[in-house]
Amino acid sequence: MPNVIAIDGPAASGKSTLAKKLAEDLGYLYFDTGVMYRAVTFLVLQNKIPPHDETAVTRLAEQSSIDVTSPTVDDGRDYNVWVAGQDITWKIRQPEVEAEVSRVSAYAGVRRALTAQQRRIGQRGRVVMAGRDVGTVVLPEADLKIYLDASVEERARRRFVELQQRGEKLSYEEILTAMKSRDRIDSSREIAPLRPAEDAIILNSDNTPIDQVLEMVHKIITRLSEEE
Ligand code: C5P
Repeated sequence: MPNVIAIDGPAASGKSTLAKKLAEDLGYLYFDTGVMYRAVTFLVLQNKIPPHDETAVTRLAEQSSIDVTSPTVDDGRDYNVWVAGQDITWKIRQPEVEAEVSRVSAYAGVRRALTAQQRRIGQRGRVVMAGRDVGTVVLPEADLKIYLDASVEERARRRFVELQQRGEKLSYEEILTAMKSRDRIDSSREIAPLRPAEDAIILNSDNTPIDQVLEMVHKIITRLSEEE
């Protein structure tokens, strides 16, 4: 049975839902690394630090202790995100955070600080970790690496529906433009760019519901376990 599982992919490809369900089925910890980059970005904006000030942003990332715990509020959340005594679980999902998170997460010092924390969690094992660089950088020794892709149009459509349900009033076109911009920054940055690890299994969720993708991953795990 794979002990450490990495699930990477672009925004709204379904990787978080897949990782969460897989972790539930296996009785593993589900850890979403994007939460940490979002939390730092939220703090940057809250403290009115200019996101282009790399030194100040990095200092903040090094000093902040982000805590992800089991959900204590029944409002659709999968976990609580805490920082400096504040519950920022939903605040990190706001479009303002999304607009700056790729810039903040491209900084070397920010990645160094957060990757170290993520590795510590991952190395305890029995974990499904989701993100952009889990299979390539955070846990290159992972026993199973999945890269879940989908077209940008389909991903923007999913995010549009999600934001509408939360009462955010962005148009599909605005979301599509923002997503293309985030994809471009995440894939072209020098450090830990978004890309599949060489030994990752690439899946696509465009025409496949997540439950079916989950079934495929379970089959892959069964096959891996039989081969051992
Ligand atoms: O997955 P999610 O959309 O929540 O990630 C938010 C942002 O955090 C991404 O657009 C990316 O810039 C950054 N991120 C990253 N490395 C990760 C996870 C997220 O750079 N492992």
